[in-house]
Amino acid sequence: MSLAYTALRAQEIKENLDGVKARMDEVLQTQGGAASKARLVAVSKYKPASDILAAYETAGHRHFGENYVQELEEKSKELPSDIQWHFIGSLQSNKCKTVAAIPNLFVVETVDSAKKASTLDKACAAAARPEPLRIFLQVNTSGEESKSGMSPGESLEVARHVLSNCPHLKLAGLMTIGSPNPDLENGENPDFKALNQCRTTIQDTLQIEGLELSMGMSDDFQRALQQGSTNIRVGSTIFGSRPPFTKSS
Ligand SMILES: *Cc1c(COP(=O)(O)O)cnc(C)c1O
Repeated sequence: MSLAYTALRAQEIKENLDGVKARMDEVLQTQGGAASKARLVAVSKYKPASDILAAYETAGHRHFGENYVQELEEKSKELPSDIQWHFIGSLQSNKCKTVAAIPNLFVVETVDSAKKASTLDKACAAAARPEPLRIFLQVNTSGEESKSGMSPGESLEVARHVLSNCPHLKLAGLMTIGSPNPDLENGENPDFKALNQCRTTIQDTLQIEGLELSMGMSDDFQRALQQGSTNIRVGSTIFGSRPPFTKSS
C-alpha cells in the first residue's frame, strides 16, 4: 500500500485536527484551566495508512484508534513505531494474541468481560511485553442490547478481577460509546454520567485512583469533555465520512 499523500489531503487533515483541538481548548478553558488536558485519539478505521502518516508528519499527531485487528496489524507494521495505537473495536478472544503482539499498542479500550481480560492477560505474557498493557473496561451505560460492553454493575467485579488476577494488564480506565440520540438531563448526557459513577464506585471500593474516562466522539466530544472525559475518540470530523458500516471482522 502506498504511503504517499497529496499536500492538499495533508492540509485538509491538519485543518480538521486543529479545528477539533480548538474546540477541545474552548471547553477545557471554560472549566477554569484546571481540567487536565484530555487526549485526542484520531480514529482512522477504514482510512488509508497515508492519511495517518499525513496526520503524523504534518500535524505531529501520535494517538490513533483502530477497530479491526487485521487492519491495525497491517497499519502498525508499515507506519512509524512511535505511533500510540488504541484498539477500540470489538475484541474477539481468538484475536487477543495478535493484538498483544503489536509492540506500540498503547491501550485496549474495549475489554468487555473478566474472561476476555484473562485471555488478553495470557496473550500479553506470551508476547513478553516489557510493561503491563493498559486496558479500559468497556461499559454499556445505555443498557441498549445492541451495544457491547459490560453492565455498570459488572464493571466493579471485572475491575477487581483485573487487579487481582491479571498481572500483565494495567487497569487504566473505563470506556463507553454514548447513545447517538441521548435524552439530556439538565444538560448532561446520562451515558457519560453513568461512566463517571462507575469510576467513583470502582475507585472508592478498590482504593485506587487515576482511572481515565474514554468517552466522546465526533458528535458529542465537547459535552463529554464537560463531563470529565480524559480521552476522546474522533474519526469522521478528522478524516471525513466513512463507507457505511459493514460487518467485516
Ligand atoms: C468509529 C468509532 C469512533 C469515531 O467515531 P466518529 O463518529 O467518526 O468520530 C469512536 N469510537 C469508537 C468505538 C468507534 O468505533
